[in-house]
Amino acid sequence: MNIIGKTISSALAGAQGPIEAGTGLFTKITEELTGGAAISPEELCTRINRAVTEAQTRLAAAADADEVEAVRIALMGRNGLFQALSKVIADVPKEAKREVGKAFNCGRAQAQKWLDEAGLRIERAADASESIDVTLPGRMRTVGHKHPINIIVDDCVEIFRRMGFVVASGPEIETVRNNFDQLNTPADHPSRDRGDTFYFADGRILRTQTSPVQIRTMESHEPPVRIVAPGRVFRRDTPDATHGMNFHQIEGLYIDRNVSMADLKSVLQSFAWEMYGKEVKIRLRPHFFPFTEPSVEYDFSCMMCKGKGCPVCKQSGYIEIAGAGMVDPNVLRNVGYDPAIWSGFAFGMGIERLAMLRYRIGDIRYLYENDVRFLEQF
Ligand SMILES: [Zn+2]
Repeated sequence: MNIIGKTISSALAGAQGPIEAGTGLFTKITEELTGGAAISPEELCTRINRAVTEAQTRLAAAADADEVEAVRIALMGRNGLFQALSKVIADVPKEAKREVGKAFNCGRAQAQKWLDEAGLRIERAADASESIDVTLPGRMRTVGHKHPINIIVDDCVEIFRRMGFVVASGPEIETVRNNFDQLNTPADHPSRDRGDTFYFADGRILRTQTSPVQIRTMESHEPPVRIVAPGRVFRRDTPDATHGMNFHQIEGLYIDRNVSMADLKSVLQSFAWEMYGKEVKIRLRPHFFPFTEPSVEYDFSCMMCKGKGCPVCKQSGYIEIAGAGMVDPNVLRNVGYDPAIWSGFAFGMGIERLAMLRYRIGDIRYLYENDVRFLEQF
């Protein structure tokens, strides 16, 4: 500011020498110009031009935005050169006003142009230096990834695909027929209670299991059938550490000639090995499901304690995984398959349970809270 101010004031002061720089600088210029009648209109024009020329030199040499701003304030500011000049011009004799006014306007327009150019030049230089500064640290982009439930679903599908299963899917809003009737689940079965199932006004329901996909597949395909059906299911439940109102299942169905429990067991054993490692053993326990006969629940040996007993397996050495069994002949008849020719097995597993076991997650609700601190770990 001081250098610029001095330069411009020097130019304006002409032969009288530089005017002191500082806060009162342009007041002094004004006094100098208005106080002495000695400055002719011609001399005033000459001084405007000299000041503007000097400003051009300064702007061309300006190295940063601060220097340009200092020149702008000295020229265009409220106490700047042109503001001071405009007062002087008011007292110029009428016949010379046109000439001085022209010098004033041209000078101001020219000065503004150089100010703009200098500002742009410095801005571009700053941009250019930014784009080539290879020493700056890179900007991390946050990339999302699969939810643990989807990771497990994809892993299960991959394992079963290698055993020849294909993926089938069905709607989450189902008919009572597909969800219960065709699966040999009678009207007095507890799972059909309105307190256990979400019913719509038109009688349809949010499916309580992925098993209706079995019905849809068998009704639209001739045997043999070999499918897995992953998907979301819904049951009225009070959420706690191991229960939620919606969760995910993967369902398997294998229909062919001469399918036996031995085939079921070998598929489940292969799955256990692929999912949790070669040391995992499986155990089948007799159970009851309406749509399979005989029915079993199957357990995997505890992967935490290797079967020795721990809090996770409640000291039993085994962890319950899900249900399975040979497809009930009534179900086969319902879809038009002849149970004398065709037989098969079905199984279902809870995805959340598989995820909780693999990742040692203690509470099912973590999977649905969308807490990034939790989800980032997978
Ligand atoms: Zn254990």
